[in-house]
Amino acid sequence: MYLYNSLSHEKEPFVPYVEGKVGIYTCGPTVYHYAHIGNLRTYIMEDILDRYLRYAGYEVTRVMNITDVGHLTSDADAGEDKMLKGARREHKTVMEIAKFYTDAFFADCEKLHIRTPDVIQPATGCIDDFIRVISSLLEKGYAYEAGGNIYFDTSKLDKYYVFHGFREEDLAVGVREGVEADGNKRNQADFVLWFTKSKFDSQELKWDSPWGVGYPGWHIECSCISMKYLGEHLDIHCGGIDNAFPHHTNEIAQSEAYLGHEWCKYWMHVLHLNTASGKMSKSKGEFLTLSLLESKGYSPMEYRFFCLGSHYRKSLVFTYENLENAASAYRKLIAKIALLAPRAGESFDEVGAEPLRRAFRDALDNDLNTSLAVTVLYDVLKAPVNDTTKEKLLSEFDTVLALGLLSEAEKLRQEKETAPAAAGDLSAAEIEAMIAARADAKKQKNYAEADRIRAELSAHGVVLTDTPTGTTYRVQ
Ligand code: AMP
Ligand code: ZN
Repeated sequence: MYLYNSLSHEKEPFVPYVEGKVGIYTCGPTVYHYAHIGNLRTYIMEDILDRYLRYAGYEVTRVMNITDVGHLTSDADAGEDKMLKGARREHKTVMEIAKFYTDAFFADCEKLHIRTPDVIQPATGCIDDFIRVISSLLEKGYAYEAGGNIYFDTSKLDKYYVFHGFREEDLAVGVREGVEADGNKRNQADFVLWFTKSKFDSQELKWDSPWGVGYPGWHIECSCISMKYLGEHLDIHCGGIDNAFPHHTNEIAQSEAYLGHEWCKYWMHVLHLNTASGKMSKSKGEFLTLSLLESKGYSPMEYRFFCLGSHYRKSLVFTYENLENAASAYRKLIAKIALLAPRAGESFDEVGAEPLRRAFRDALDNDLNTSLAVTVLYDVLKAPVNDTTKEKLLSEFDTVLALGLLSEAEKLRQEKETAPAAAGDLSAAEIEAMIAARADAKKQKNYAEADRIRAELSAHGVVLTDTPTGTTYRVQ
């Protein structure tokens, strides 16, 4: 398997520290608000990595933190704690906010078939670990106290900007916000490990420490939580591209200074989902959540399908038109799967399955090319193998893609059986397939064919209604 490594800026063969075992660390959500669909794109693509490594036979341990303290409104140690802002917005305590949005996040993940990580660790549960590592960094001379805060001294490193090579606009989060310089810092790039003094004295959660009552900086949590559960050598660290700097850069600085050796081998960064007008935001414009998409008639699986249609290392523009295209392709795929009719006694065709399995693995082995892996699903449907083989292969590939292929197809079949929609000799799956073929014809501006399909359906008593989110039908 080849994975693009943000550290080397190259696709590298994936070789974990220990043969057959993989440790993955994922930066978890800051639980001050709902996740937007951009955040969820990152978690979907990381889920593909997790699932594919398992499919490929690795024993995977995936750890995720929950940021419930220390992430300030600017990634460059300035501003107010995001959690406090969320609590004030909703007249609740920080812990109430954290619980509510952590639950909301995992509810979204479940709907999107994102596997629950093996370890989920809120930052507030590891304060002693943070204090231990910060103390050691002070002892080793990598950290200093100034103005009541503890800072990491980036001038002690041979190389601090390890991710250089990214495009400025992808990296610039912490820099671009015009943050007021902190006079306590010896070097501009230094960052806070522990705050006891901040302009925002209203910080709700504070802990005793050798340096006074205070709270941890954002970056230290990920280093400590990763080392606590995955040891001194981490195979893959994931996150959205905005995390590369300063967050991941600072994680590497403090982890390697603490350990005295290389810490993490592979860095996987998911590029952003943007709106047509630019950066996705929780405060400006329409706050795009999974629930909002659902309220507009799109299912979580349709959103997942939309995400898998493009490579994780390309930024992706979200428009309802793009989503609609993906959703209609997904419905069509499910309608085709629903037409499969495995016969009793049919056996699995190992020989026929082999090139399909190879194509699927080749796609994902090549830095998780999900859109190519999705095309293999269509190859399966067209392949000269029996329906038992097709269903089994789709089910196998769906352990990675997690698109609910067989369960959604079964739902469609059931709808046909229970709905009063029985249209003479046409099944619900056949009707859906014809509706999808008509949508295709319309897209190719073949209106004659689209009209012919509508007329054919009408002859079976099926009346179509076109809506902004797709075509519905009723049977007369
Ligand atoms: P946060 O809750 O802000 O800590 O972010 C959670 C995850 O979403 C992090 O891995 C971010 O890098 C990622 N992320 C933030 N914005 C976007 C976006 N527009 N598209 C994709 N991922 C994002
Ligand atoms: Zn992190």
